Amino acid sequence: MLESVINDKCGVFGIYGHPRAAELTYFGLYSLQHRGHESAGIVSSDNGQIHLHKGMGEVPQVFSDPSTIKKLAGRLAIGHTRYSTTGASSLINIQPFLITNRSRYLAIGHNGNLTNSLELRTRLEDKGSIFQTTSDTEIFLHLIATSSKKSRIERICSAFAAAKGAFSVLLLTEDSIIAVRDPHGFRPLALGKFRKSWIVASETCAFDIIGAKYVRDVEPGEVLEISEKGLKSYFPMKTAKSASCIFEYIYFSRPDSKIFGENVDKVRRRLGRLLAREHPVEADIVIGIPDSANTATLGFSEESKIPFEIGLIRNHYVGRTFIDPEQKIRDLDVKVKFNPVKGVINNRRIVVVDDSIVRGTTAKKLVKMIREAGAREVHFRISSPPIISPCFFGIDMPTKKELIAANMSVQKIEKHLGVDSLRYLSLKGMLSMSCLPDINFCSSCFSGKYPIRIPSINAKNRLSKI
Ligand code: AMP
Repeated sequence: MLESVINDKCGVFGIYGHPRAAELTYFGLYSLQHRGHESAGIVSSDNGQIHLHKGMGEVPQVFSDPSTIKKLAGRLAIGHTRYSTTGASSLINIQPFLITNRSRYLAIGHNGNLTNSLELRTRLEDKGSIFQTTSDTEIFLHLIATSSKKSRIERICSAFAAAKGAFSVLLLTEDSIIAVRDPHGFRPLALGKFRKSWIVASETCAFDIIGAKYVRDVEPGEVLEISEKGLKSYFPMKTAKSASCIFEYIYFSRPDSKIFGENVDKVRRRLGRLLAREHPVEADIVIGIPDSANTATLGFSEESKIPFEIGLIRNHYVGRTFIDPEQKIRDLDVKVKFNPVKGVINNRRIVVVDDSIVRGTTAKKLVKMIREAGAREVHFRISSPPIISPCFFGIDMPTKKELIAANMSVQKIEKHLGVDSLRYLSLKGMLSMSCLPDINFCSSCFSGKYPIRIPSINAKNRLSKI
């Protein structure tokens, strides 16, 4: 049986009611590039005529020919940026997907991961569904197409009510955009306004780029229909305890975004401050691993009063690097990305802040690099707890076997990395940093406790111990 466990971390953007909908979507996707750089696509509707363009690569590569955007005419559009771990290079999996059903068009873009995808897919295939892709996103389309409900919006509502897991989704019909968020609210999805048009995006940084204003989040469990009649909300899914992904705050979202009701920058800074309180150390300077750890590093520096320095320079022009595995130039992959500022590091006791350690490969190579640049002491501080379990809700994480903290104690990792000390933020500390009383977070990658049951077939591959 074909296994459709695809782990997508993605960005979605949609706009209703603007004559240059596709162009604005292009800019929106540009600012969501960090959520996925493997492929991108935009679909638009021009009075019922549907136009689609998608391809492998980053947004400017996929839309490098300016005439492409012009061809995507219409006042409504949705777009998607994708990064996946499984089925990665497959053209068929590029979103948005576009189908025709009952003589009407339907397009979809999805950020997240279904946990009951195998069960749903098997059920649909047993009834005769023929799948075109290996992505769990396609399941929504089959559920909508095979629903016995009368109206299209009812069919959409019933399809999402059958799905389990993480989904922040945008659908485009000839004359509407529909935004859907799972009842746990795993992934962010925000509603904004640009003049008279409505915008929906994974993160608010996509509003800023076009000058749109944040209105509110799409609610967990909400199906939000945007059409010429305005906004219409439906809540067809069973309500559930919120489980917003804490890793969005730690690493994934941009610091200039507001997600789940709070600015990422503020939360990250608080994490850094708390880290300094939980694990103080005597040192001359504190440096962060750019870019994702920059804000937490500032927090650490403010709290500890250890001066913040730029000790590592990141090359922002690194796309995919093609490195011959046979070559003798050791650590070239990390050297392409980072270079230490020797004048800053030499003969100093250094605190290095990173947001997370996954496999431990980046940290190990960077420590070596920092030592070679003359550091006297290297103290690693991580603004999240040890990652011990894979994610089933849309963050690209390796199997348990590959997660260093699932297989080694902190002391062993400390030795393995070759640092003078290694300390992680506590789980309790991390969970206390949010000022949002009404939101519960999913911290399963740190605790191993999943907010919803993971079917054993999904779990088998990714939770197995060595
Ligand atoms: P690793 O080298 O596997 O330990 O990866 C840790 C580094 O990758 C840290 O510097 C993080 O900022 C970054 N990181 C954390 N989570 C992810 C992820 N899901 N995908 C890509 N990079 C990540």
